[in-house]
Amino acid sequence: MSIRLWQLHLITAGFSVASVACAASRAAQTSRDPQISGSPTTVVIDAGHGGFDRGGIPSQRIPEKEMTLDVAQRLKTLLAASGYNVVMTRDSDVFVPLPSRVAIANSYRNAIFVCIHFNSANRMGAGGIETYFYGRDSLPLASAIHYYVAGGAPSSNRGVRRRGFYVLRKTTVPAVLVECGFLTNPTEGEYVQTVSYRQKLAEEIAAGVRARNSVAASSTTRMATADSVPLQSYIDQTKTSNSERSRRHSRKKRSRSSSSKKKSSSKATGSEANVILNEQEG
Ligand SMILES: [Zn+2]
Repeated sequence: MSIRLWQLHLITAGFSVASVACAASRAAQTSRDPQISGSPTTVVIDAGHGGFDRGGIPSQRIPEKEMTLDVAQRLKTLLAASGYNVVMTRDSDVFVPLPSRVAIANSYRNAIFVCIHFNSANRMGAGGIETYFYGRDSLPLASAIHYYVAGGAPSSNRGVRRRGFYVLRKTTVPAVLVECGFLTNPTEGEYVQTVSYRQKLAEEIAAGVRARNSVAASSTTRMATADSVPLQSYIDQTKTSNSERSRRHSRKKRSRSSSSKKKSSSKATGSEANVILNEQEG
């Protein structure tokens, strides 16, 4: 609870800090995206879940599928106004299988893929923004989007992470999955239910899309670089989760060979890690 109160106090300050941070790349944000080979970049926007797939966890009050679609549609409007060719994997409350979403992205040669999700966890205190990529070519886009979204949101920064979500592994174009906060967190959930905040999320994602090339070109940027991002492969994360479960069920049988560092790392991800694994399928 004290953390939540602390964050409430920082809400105003957070946006101020974001303004300062964004000012550093204001030139990149306001400029139009450079056109490659004379044709506009296609941005394939993927609103997570849809139809019977509500997203999140069963006890969750706020439907993730509605929030992702709303932010995706706002992002579509913003990017189209900036001259991008925008394609939606879904533009209504329908279920689209993951292979179909990937196929749409891969059908455009000059494209980037932006997948919008919200997180959830059984622990109400879990919160923050995290952005995922898989292929190295996707890192500049992930860094840029995360820089703006995490900088513009009053939520904690959970970092840019590398993980093998299906839609990131199977896409052949630069692909990013941004988790725009926890719908199970009372503070973040309240924000996301407001139109103004969903619009702000869309604006920050759009700013990241516009700035992605400047991230790739600059080695002095404050954004993440290929050497600074902790790589968390999907397989490794699964093993960590499984070993933690094994410890719970047969703690006394286990040797004490596991380092304390590994234990604390497992506890830190905890239930969110399981939710993230669920995200793999939906
Ligand atoms: Zn999701």
